Amino acid sequence: MQAAGAAIRLLQGKGGGGTETKGLTRDEVLAWLKEEEDWKLSFLWEEADRVRREQVGDEVHLRGLIEMSSFCRRDCHYCGIRGSRKIERYRMSEEEVMECVRIAQRLEYGTVVLQSGEDHGLTSDFITHLVRRIKSETPLAVTLALGERSLEELAAWREAGADRYLLKHETSDPELFRRIHPDCSTEVSDRIALLKAAKEMGYEAGSGVMVGIPGQTYESLADDIMLFRDLDLEMIGCGPFVPHPDTPLGQMTNDESRMTNVRAQVPATDTMTTKVVALTRLLCPDANIPSTTALATINRERGREMGLERGANVWMPNLTQPRYRALYEIYPGKAKVIDTAEEFQKNLLATLERIGRVPGKGPGGRLPRVNLEARNPNDD
Ligand code: SAM
Repeated sequence: MQAAGAAIRLLQGKGGGGTETKGLTRDEVLAWLKEEEDWKLSFLWEEADRVRREQVGDEVHLRGLIEMSSFCRRDCHYCGIRGSRKIERYRMSEEEVMECVRIAQRLEYGTVVLQSGEDHGLTSDFITHLVRRIKSETPLAVTLALGERSLEELAAWREAGADRYLLKHETSDPELFRRIHPDCSTEVSDRIALLKAAKEMGYEAGSGVMVGIPGQTYESLADDIMLFRDLDLEMIGCGPFVPHPDTPLGQMTNDESRMTNVRAQVPATDTMTTKVVALTRLLCPDANIPSTTALATINRERGREMGLERGANVWMPNLTQPRYRALYEIYPGKAKVIDTAEEFQKNLLATLERIGRVPGKGPGGRLPRVNLEARNPNDD
């Protein structure tokens, strides 16, 4: 079994350490994704945790998530705020966003993440002004996650001071992507090209996938992980696909959603999601990797901790005002992971303490690279 071979490589230290595990081949990644023996998987969890500690330390960076608008011009087959759904929509005013930003500052977070549906009602000038204001009035880093916006807009927001752009490519299987993410009229989606352009503009770029999308194969998931490495991403967020009953993917029956060969379908489980987190840590040792809300939603007891103990080093607490949060229901159950930001913070700090981790200080961007080549192998 190849995964066992890789486990032994990791165990014996032949493949251990950031440099070598980064060299895991696609076949090894694939074998780990298919591995089901707990005792073998425990090697993967330990190695991911070790590489995380060595490369990015025990700090967990806190990024305050602000869901600015639920308007969306897209009609993604997986998403609860897809444009064609008849739901109550909202768009925050600048002052409402700044209220959330102040909470992030008060709680000493390092970053705010401004997320929304793909909403052109959030104009280029509105975002430019908002970013300038956050950057001039606070020490916070600003991450934008506003969907597929034009290169001109991305450039203007970068110029205004935005630090990071987050756009998950969702799946690297082009046929599956087209099926679940229809283009807007004649514009063809190319999220990977946008990520590359964002990097060239000087943004830290973030991507990610949903794990267990109906029709997703193990092979394409292995390709996703190899792509994270090839794109040299600063941030990589992976959560399970959570079916929303009022979306085309959520309405598929089990039979329709599975492929003919059931064994070929990736399950949307906590274990599979954390395999992806752990392998991503091994292949992209110094990336910032969140333990996602979707993972905490499918396993309320242990999901968040599982992610943090299997390679993740980022937590994105939701700072959206509760009255809006309930309207930004991209999948069911998400809005229930609430309390006010202050109440949530107590729980967050207790969780970090329980697992021996500490809240991150400062903006928490990618650290300068550890020069592994220059390191004397006898030092280990
Ligand atoms: N409009 C932006 C975009 O498309 O990138 C940002 C907002 S979008 C709602 C943020 C993320 O939610 C998506 O990248 C997707 O991974 C996730 N998401 C949407 N529906 C989901 C579902 N049913 N299960 C899990 N994640 C989902």
